[in-house]
Amino acid sequence: MKYHFSDRVPKTDVDPVGNILKVAGDPKVMSFAGGLPAPELFPVEQVKKAADKVFDTKGPSALQYGSSQGVPELRNVIVDRLKIDGINTDVDHVMVATGSQQSIDLTGKMFLDEGSVVIVENPTYLTAVDVFRSYGAHFVGVDMDEDGMRMDALEQALKDNPTARLIYTIPTFQNPTGRTMTLDRRKKLLELAVKYDVMVLEDNPYGAIRWEGDNLPSLKSMDTTDHVIYMGTLSKILSPGLRLGWVVAEPKLIKKYMMMKQSADLHTDSLAQYIAAEYFAENDIDEHVQAITALYHKREQIMMAAIDKYFPKNVTHSNPEGGMFLWVMVPGVDDTQKLFDAALERNVAIVPGDPFFGNETIPGTFRMNYSNTPEEKIDDGVKRLAEAIREVMA
Ligand code: PMP
Repeated sequence: MKYHFSDRVPKTDVDPVGNILKVAGDPKVMSFAGGLPAPELFPVEQVKKAADKVFDTKGPSALQYGSSQGVPELRNVIVDRLKIDGINTDVDHVMVATGSQQSIDLTGKMFLDEGSVVIVENPTYLTAVDVFRSYGAHFVGVDMDEDGMRMDALEQALKDNPTARLIYTIPTFQNPTGRTMTLDRRKKLLELAVKYDVMVLEDNPYGAIRWEGDNLPSLKSMDTTDHVIYMGTLSKILSPGLRLGWVVAEPKLIKKYMMMKQSADLHTDSLAQYIAAEYFAENDIDEHVQAITALYHKREQIMMAAIDKYFPKNVTHSNPEGGMFLWVMVPGVDDTQKLFDAALERNVAIVPGDPFFGNETIPGTFRMNYSNTPEEKIDDGVKRLAEAIREVMA
């Protein structure tokens, strides 16, 4: 059979990131490649208890079709959580989505046509790149430094692309770099969004996992003109398998999101939503997030110490104050794949930087994850990775 795919379908069967994650999944490979939370902290017993209660008290409604906007009990929990990010809102401004990934997808579907310009951080979350590309996006990358997106570069991008439809940003503990945008830049970004009248899509899956520095206000909390769409998720603070995320926007826009969502999946899994709401009612989520934060901090510190010990001194890296990732820049490397290959020869996996860029890549960059590797293995993995780096630099 010869398939007649739409333009949306990738022309190639080569899935570079899928292939990386596949080799990284080999038990003899130590993987710093994935982006998985630490499974040992999933509150299995508490979620089981919540599920039992939902079956006992809400059985039929939990198994019935539900509203596209989401179960009210969970939307109430979300409104409460949003206060941590300085967002004071109500349930009319919130739609539950099937993970943030769906929020990104519905946003692409809603705002992009073939050739629409999307402004992204350089680098950015690679699966958002895939989504926006499938809706015909033309990417304009804005360079970053350790303080996040550079605002002079953003303003230039907006001047050069007056029809840009979206600015997509992960301001806190960004994936892939672990960097956080400063308060001044957050304010400037909002000012520019208003000046050039462009929507901002603020993606915040990692913000709650902070072990250092002060909490910074979300863009949405400072947005007085409805230029910001905010997305959150339970994936990094409770469980990614539940597939629960949310979009926060003005009610007019939430209605549009609901229409787009109806054609995607009618609504998010009711059972999962009730279970999550029940979990929140019975457990101290802040205590749980503190346990996650403490463990990731410990792992990050071990990784940083090993990097300082083993990496050549001219290799630079980000210094995350939270989240799950750090970003490494190896000077003088023209083909990042060589770093991956050399590391894999030593049974260590990283994700080469290239797929994180919307257009022009920065060679010699890669992402490391520390949340998913047991403490006692990290030092040895970094040591072997350092040997690989030295070999490629030589
Ligand atoms: N945005 C970013 C920046 C992410 O890193 C991820 C997951 N790795 C997502 C969105 C999607 O998360 P989920 O669909 O599990 O909420």
